[in-house]
Amino acid sequence: MGTASLSILAPSKPSPTPEKDPSNPSTALLSEESITAPPRPSKPGSFLFTFLLVLTCISVAFSVAFAFLYFSSPASRGSPKSTLDVVARPLSKLKRPAVILISTDGFRFGFQFKAPTPNIGRLIANGTEAETGLIPVFPTLTFPNHYSIVTGLYPAYHGIINNYFTDPATGDFFSMHSHEPKWWLGEPLWETVVNHGLPAAVYFWPGSEVKRGNWSCPPYFCPNFNDSVPFADRVDAVLGYFDLPSDEIPVFTTLYFEDPDHQGHKVGADDPQITDAVARIDQMIGRLIDGLESRGIFEEVTLILVGDHGMVGTCDKKLVFLDDLAPWIEIPQSWVQSYSPLLAIRPPPDVSHSDVVDKMMEGLSSGKVENGKNLKMFLKEDLPERLHYHASDRISPIIGLLEEGFKVEQKRSKRKECGGAHGYDNAFFSMRTIFVAHGPQFARGRKIQSFENVHIYNLITSILKIKGAANNGSETFPSSVLLPSAN
Ligand SMILES: [Zn+2]
Repeated sequence: MGTASLSILAPSKPSPTPEKDPSNPSTALLSEESITAPPRPSKPGSFLFTFLLVLTCISVAFSVAFAFLYFSSPASRGSPKSTLDVVARPLSKLKRPAVILISTDGFRFGFQFKAPTPNIGRLIANGTEAETGLIPVFPTLTFPNHYSIVTGLYPAYHGIINNYFTDPATGDFFSMHSHEPKWWLGEPLWETVVNHGLPAAVYFWPGSEVKRGNWSCPPYFCPNFNDSVPFADRVDAVLGYFDLPSDEIPVFTTLYFEDPDHQGHKVGADDPQITDAVARIDQMIGRLIDGLESRGIFEEVTLILVGDHGMVGTCDKKLVFLDDLAPWIEIPQSWVQSYSPLLAIRPPPDVSHSDVVDKMMEGLSSGKVENGKNLKMFLKEDLPERLHYHASDRISPIIGLLEEGFKVEQKRSKRKECGGAHGYDNAFFSMRTIFVAHGPQFARGRKIQSFENVHIYNLITSILKIKGAANNGSETFPSSVLLPSAN
């Protein structure tokens, strides 16, 4: 079934090293402390007095300088407690670490500034935030990204290379309702957790309903996806898991909200509907915080709030029509696996792939095809390496990359509309989403640089102190972000 190249789960290419945070306030405090430690005097008498006087002056100068640096640093403005976090805070009520991973679909980085978001703001002020957002994997679509977050694998390796696609070996079609294990490669976090004999709960997440290995998707801990379940009910159900006997409390739980993606597709990234949706998500975060606080465990449960991708406005003026390429090459509908924003073409076996790319590019760059310069065609093996999008038979041999906000359609129509889309190159800032983490192992008020979501798997297994499966995330990333244990 064409999975030979997919089954190699060990990272085939070195993963990008996550950017280090040079301004870690905790590290800064430690180094200052070691400088100001007074040396022991070695000689008695007046020399000793002079020595102590000089030493006192130096210490005072250092203290003043340090205080100035501390109170003027951006992190200290976020939370005056930030530099007190040197080691992880201990658990007292919970028997073991617990993580709730929350996804808000299509929450573009920056949406948190669109509406009053006091609850997300509270997590940011008292937790750790990717200051310029979380970078999704390519293609910046819902299923590929959600599954990368929980497996630490790029889509070429976890197998969910698009929201829908055809397996070329079998002709079988994958859609967002396909729960057969054959599609879903890699090892998602819930499976890793139950493999360690620990409880896991998945209140909606792509792939959760797939029964594989030790994961049986038990109904109470793994309800079938149903978009009519009110968001508040989802939050309350997750809170209910924390009323179980301590051995039964899931150490890993997911919570999923379809918004603001739902609104973003209809109205684009900038519209009052988005503002309202963002405010509602914040209320749900507030409901979760309140529920944890009333159980006395808000400071002990780790909350990780992410999105899967961003959103960008699209409009009928930004369209490329494949039929316009007819003078150079005819691209029949039957060749096209997906149109937009990820154009994926699989011609019949007797057609030269490079010939198709060359002829399409000839037309697109001729100046005679409307918006042609906004679409670039590639053989998948020639795509930029940073996209990690070729090592799977499921990926179509010919891929088109669109400029931000443009779309591809087969033929012209009278339809006029503007909306929103995602799926573009993950280098576009508009495709970024959020990463906010709050819990015993996250420094308060700390900002970290943007990183790709494949690093989250290792981050969560580190928090839970369990060994994860092989993946594309960096092994050193968790120690660059998490506070060390106290012991
Ligand atoms: Zn979407």
